[in-house]
Amino acid sequence: MNKLPQLFANNRRWAAATEQRNPGFFGELSAQQNPRYLWIGCSDSRVPANEIVGLAPGELFVHRNVANLVFHNDFSCLSVLQYAIDVLGIEHVIVCGHYGCGGVTAAYEQRPLGLVDNWLLPIRDIARTYATQLAELPTDLERADRLCELNVLFQARRVCRTTIVQQAWERDHPLTVHAWVYRLNDGLLRDLGFCARDLASADADFERTVGADTNRSNHQAMTQ
Ligand SMILES: [Zn+2]
Repeated sequence: MNKLPQLFANNRRWAAATEQRNPGFFGELSAQQNPRYLWIGCSDSRVPANEIVGLAPGELFVHRNVANLVFHNDFSCLSVLQYAIDVLGIEHVIVCGHYGCGGVTAAYEQRPLGLVDNWLLPIRDIARTYATQLAELPTDLERADRLCELNVLFQARRVCRTTIVQQAWERDHPLTVHAWVYRLNDGLLRDLGFCARDLASADADFERTVGADTNRSNHQAMTQ
């Protein structure tokens, strides 16, 4: 039976090196975690959350799925959000997408991948709603990049619309929801300018950052 010995060897080296750099690290970490941030990102193996923002174990609470989507009936994502805010007291939720996202590209090109096509349907809806804005861009690459940004902005606003975040704001929990995008080919993050501290600022930031489009007939229905 293959027990993946290389991964265990890597793990032993990592644990030893970490403990050598910071004696007592694991003992302290096992007693409690005190992360200041929740990261909602893509499962893509090229977007490792902690490494990108230079945070150690214990400093970043993480939820990842294909194309960093937030659904109001996804109890996995909602449970992470609720635990992060209500139990850990996190004050910053970062929704981070990435350019070159395979999920976003597959949805845009309507390329069938199987079951995951159902998961990605909201991205097709975003592409349809913002078809005019996307069509004005000169290249397929730029259109795909913009769709990655639009998807992050939609998901960030969805986070703001959860009962969890709205109740946190109602009790004056200082919570900010951010929308970022990561570029694979230079390793850099970009802030999309969405920085919501209440529902009014979420709506205002959303309207400003997604921009105008003439094809918005189903806009209201799909943004809840
Ligand atoms: Zn992705």
